Amino acid sequence: MQAEIDVAVVGGGVAGLTAGMYAARNGMRTVLFEAMMPGGQTATILRLENYPGFPDGVDGAALAADILRQAEAAGCELRYEAVQEIIPAEAVAAPHTIVTAAGRYAAKTVILAGGAAPRRLGLPREEELTGHGVSYCATCDGALFRGKRVAVVGGGNTALTDALVLSRYAERVFLIHRRDAFRGSRVLEDRVRATAQIELLLSRTVSGLLGTDKLSGLQLAAPDGADAGELAVDGLFVAVGVSPVSEFVADCLQRSSNGGIVTDARMQTSLPGVYAAGDCRDTALRQVVTAAADGAVAAASASEYVMSLG
Ligand code: NAP
Repeated sequence: MQAEIDVAVVGGGVAGLTAGMYAARNGMRTVLFEAMMPGGQTATILRLENYPGFPDGVDGAALAADILRQAEAAGCELRYEAVQEIIPAEAVAAPHTIVTAAGRYAAKTVILAGGAAPRRLGLPREEELTGHGVSYCATCDGALFRGKRVAVVGGGNTALTDALVLSRYAERVFLIHRRDAFRGSRVLEDRVRATAQIELLLSRTVSGLLGTDKLSGLQLAAPDGADAGELAVDGLFVAVGVSPVSEFVADCLQRSSNGGIVTDARMQTSLPGVYAAGDCRDTALRQVVTAAADGAVAAASASEYVMSLG
């Protein structure tokens, strides 16, 4: 077991990095655990248009890199280790245990900032065709479909943004949504409707994936399940929402029906000394600005808790 950490932050997206920066600036010994690359979902946004202070938009990866630099400059220590388990303290004021492949760490407080992962459609062969035509990240994989026919499924901001990103590469983009009204922002919807390469297929669902070694098309259905024909495409981008990531924490942590970690306004979870911030939380709005704000509040609450321990 290593020396005790004041604030352990789990996850290096904007919520975690901001929490790390604020906690370190409060004089806390702060360690941030990140399994892969810091930046989270923000690092995949080509142009972030609704983060305050950037009227011309900002590159998501650049913004995340700057917040990382700011966190490290404040004294937040980065550990590139995947957290396997968090064992909550057995008594109030006792340390929590963070378990990674590299070791075990005792932490007075923990800020959960694991973000959210894209939801699957749940279709047969979806997993097998992932990376062979099926993708969950238009920014990452869009360029592979230059001059091809692709489809996006979903009706939220991610689906609208993905369709716009893909229209830069693909010859034709079909946006398939199960209703006839989008739930994403009006500005994005207007832009999608004004883009010639994007064709809307409303009140349609994807009921099957066609192709053997790689995706060659989609089986479509009407909302009542009736067959709506086949659509030949080379790629399918799934944008049907996200699921909060928190599986490494004990089941006793209170979660909402969709898996979001329940917190109060101070980001306190149902476990004393454990806080949550950003997309892993049960929250009405998942944006970069709310992730940053959650991180700041969680760090302030965790710092107060550490100080109350004396
Ligand atoms: P979302 O807002 O939850 O939308 C998910 C969409 O997928 C909905 O339109 C839903 O249809 C549809 N859907 C769900 N399950 C489906 C299924 N099994 N088959 C077919 N369609 C299905 O998710 P999101 O778009 O990923 O956005 C997540 C969060 O990130 C939101 O808070 C969003 O505002 C935010 N975000 C913001 C931006 C931005 O501001 N630029 C960009 C990306 C994401 P129904 O509408 O019928 O429920």
